[in-house]
Amino acid sequence: MCGIVGIRDAGGVSFSIYYALYALQHRGQESAGISTFDGTRLFKHKGQGLVAEVFDSAILESLEGNVGIGHVRYPTTGANRPENAQPFNFAFRDHTISIAHNGNLVNSRQLRDEYECRGQIFCSTTDTELIAKVITEEMSNSGCIEDAVHRCMRVLRGSYSVVMMIDGVLYGFRDPLGIKPLCLGRTQKGLIIASESVAVDALGGTFLRDVAPGELICIDGEGMRSMQIARASRRAHCIFEYIYFARADAVLDGALVYDVRLRIGAKLHEEAPVQADSVCPVPDSGTAYAVGYSARSGIPFMESLLKNRYMGRTFIMSTQNERERAVRIKLNPIRKHLENGAVVLVDDSIVRGTTSRRIIGIMREAGAREIHVRIGSPSIVAPCYLGVDMPTREELIAHRRDEEEVRRHITATSLHHVTIDALVESIGIGRENLCMGCLTGTYPVDIPGEVSSPVAVDFLDGTYQTRLEKFGTGKE
Ligand code: 5GP
Ligand code: MG
Repeated sequence: MCGIVGIRDAGGVSFSIYYALYALQHRGQESAGISTFDGTRLFKHKGQGLVAEVFDSAILESLEGNVGIGHVRYPTTGANRPENAQPFNFAFRDHTISIAHNGNLVNSRQLRDEYECRGQIFCSTTDTELIAKVITEEMSNSGCIEDAVHRCMRVLRGSYSVVMMIDGVLYGFRDPLGIKPLCLGRTQKGLIIASESVAVDALGGTFLRDVAPGELICIDGEGMRSMQIARASRRAHCIFEYIYFARADAVLDGALVYDVRLRIGAKLHEEAPVQADSVCPVPDSGTAYAVGYSARSGIPFMESLLKNRYMGRTFIMSTQNERERAVRIKLNPIRKHLENGAVVLVDDSIVRGTTSRRIIGIMREAGAREIHVRIGSPSIVAPCYLGVDMPTREELIAHRRDEEEVRRHITATSLHHVTIDALVESIGIGRENLCMGCLTGTYPVDIPGEVSSPVAVDFLDGTYQTRLEKFGTGKE
């Protein structure tokens, strides 16, 4: 899981990329980086930590040029290595390339082996470097970016939303299934490609549209060109983006995330009504769901857990022990709201069950009599191979446990997860166009040892449909 952005705009882009990355910070807190191009030279700065820790204004001023890309990286267990921070910059022949990626390839081991057998070397363990290899190899053969992206879409299996800069031309493309989000916006004098629309908002820009699955966007001094490189028979948008990852104020593939969560909250009440004194969210991820539940049930919304906003997401802690202590620092119960009361506690998901159990413990200590837990996602029963950093099957609380066993484990008075049907209806995108691998154990791409129902992909060989959209004056 990561956040990516690419901007072309007159008058320098480093500050704009910085603000956009700030807006995407929730998608990754391990490292941040920016590369820019000034017409001849590539500049870059990246480091471990939050956007605000990695950059200051002197650094941003040194990143010259009207085009650039940026990245925030999500901490995946065990791979917290400085050399994995993106974007990556390469020189090949007379070209410079800078690339950043969000997603996860499921055949990277195999592809890497093929390259290594041919004597190629890698300096990181990222999929991004592999994608750059595929691109540069094909560019060397045919000299054509369309062919290079076509090659990517043929050989890469998994999820990939990519922003890339070659000799100052900005590119963005999204895997043919559209697993991870990517959208387009207009800034004052230019264009932006970003993981979520909130990055466009942060710049005071105008959201234009999502990048289509299998589409390649190319932005240069002329304007923007769009090419449909591949077309899949259906899409596989990640449901976890709606449930947890994306910001509630983002619009993803046509759906406002806040509205999706409100609708799920209402469904939670319809599916499992209960008498209670208040509806309390687990902040912040459960808030929109709780608002929806309260509105539909008529039970007052009341915050009874207050979040310390200066603390990062608990999953950043790498050991179980650290994670448990973190919950205590992060959330403080309001005794007066809870004492002797029956509470509907609403959260987005239960993954390992650790946080939920701790939170319920804290609320009981604070005097809550009944705690009815309502969860905005169905039970997560299988791992994600396509970009969400989920634990293995064994660590998933709902693996081999039914809802009643999970309820007992987390010590809730009652427990209900929203049904898959209600989730799909709330998102408003047909079930066939969603990836629900973590809920069903069936994946939209072939994964060795797992059940899959792979999506057929057509390639529009040789003749890419090109559309030119002018921009750049800011006057239209
Ligand atoms: P659990 O009870 O499974 O230990 O934790 C559930 C909580 O973890 C929920 O509040 C949910 O918002 C959060 N969560 C779910 N998935 C992720 C994730 O991928 N990263 C982080 N940081 N938190 C997550
Ligand atoms: Mg949460």
